[in-house]
Amino acid sequence: MLKSNPERMQERLNRIAGFTEEENKITRRTYSKAWVEAIKYVKKEMEAMEIKVRMDSFGNVIGQYNPEGLIKKPVGIGSHIDSVQNAGAYDGVAGIVVGMELVSVMHENSIKPEVPVEILVTADEEGAICQRGYFGARFMAGDMEVEELLSYTDVNGKNLEVLRKESGIFKDIPFGNDNGWAKNYYDRFYEVHVEQGGVLESRHCDAGIVKGVVGIGRLFIDFYGESDHAGPTIMEVRHDSMVAASDFILRSWELGREYNGRATTTVGRIQNYPNIHNVIAGKTSVVFDFRSEEDELALAIAKEIKEYALSLKDKYGIGVEIIREVYTPVKLFSPDLIETIRELKIPNSMDLYSWAGHDAKMFAEITDTAMIFMPSIGGKSHCPEEFTDIKSFQLVCDNLIRLFIS
Ligand SMILES: [Zn+2]
Repeated sequence: MLKSNPERMQERLNRIAGFTEEENKITRRTYSKAWVEAIKYVKKEMEAMEIKVRMDSFGNVIGQYNPEGLIKKPVGIGSHIDSVQNAGAYDGVAGIVVGMELVSVMHENSIKPEVPVEILVTADEEGAICQRGYFGARFMAGDMEVEELLSYTDVNGKNLEVLRKESGIFKDIPFGNDNGWAKNYYDRFYEVHVEQGGVLESRHCDAGIVKGVVGIGRLFIDFYGESDHAGPTIMEVRHDSMVAASDFILRSWELGREYNGRATTTVGRIQNYPNIHNVIAGKTSVVFDFRSEEDELALAIAKEIKEYALSLKDKYGIGVEIIREVYTPVKLFSPDLIETIRELKIPNSMDLYSWAGHDAKMFAEITDTAMIFMPSIGGKSHCPEEFTDIKSFQLVCDNLIRLFIS
């Protein structure tokens, strides 16, 4: 039986973690110098095992292992190499390291896969440029027109054109001609990812077969009050947008708790104007994030919270406007691929949903897609404490390799 090499996987995880924008932290945003260095490292590692590496005009890197020169649709496996600020070492990178390990094992055992295998190293999954997430995968899938792709900017107001140029890695490659290149290109796609929650650990499971990604929605709401002096303005004539927003936040928290286990609700972003200690707030903007395994429930929650927000008009004498609403329904992964993975009989595995968006959600729009989770210790992610035991990597690799060889 073929065996993966835990030391090699750990070494690759450590090396990639070392490419960072901030000392003693892991921060690797797409198009940063750290990102460019990480890409170069991954490319070198892949080329050492006879993988042909290319990069699309967005910055997604594709390594094809096809020693037989087969003319067949490839199988893709991979994840993202960019990270949030002050991240952990596993989010995204885990899936790349698993993909690389599978090819390493084939390469060192002179095993020819039945189909070309492509390791995908995607860009801007974390949404630093486009706050909607998995931007690189959206490019591959042709989810947006070039004009729209260029309309998004990062926190510094830089769009793809500027960021690409500053990265220095694209030379003269023009942007956008290959938008949507992955449509009808792949036979199927696998993404291995850390769970980022605590379900697997709490059930003492070593791997998770992901049924799909939950429905995810956002409401952008503005509360309008009247700025005035914090002292001379008596309480009863105030129109305080911050107080209305606080009421809204508490209600959204209660609502999520009412549906505990079936839905989540979060207000994680608030902007307050003019945000001065001795001035009554004149405008407060919040973003309400809601998720559920059930579309119907997600939409009912959105409806209820909208009504609640609007009811605050009278209560506080303020204005309320729902600026924008977005909802991506529950996306189920390919039942056939899920069954194939179940048949591997990975010991101690269970089925579960993903409560976060992933590249795989976008790839599921263009090809049969499946996802496998590895346990996140303590359920932690997007923070330095993120940790997944290398034994989980071994378990997943030693089983997944059977999908690539006869
Ligand atoms: Zn991720």
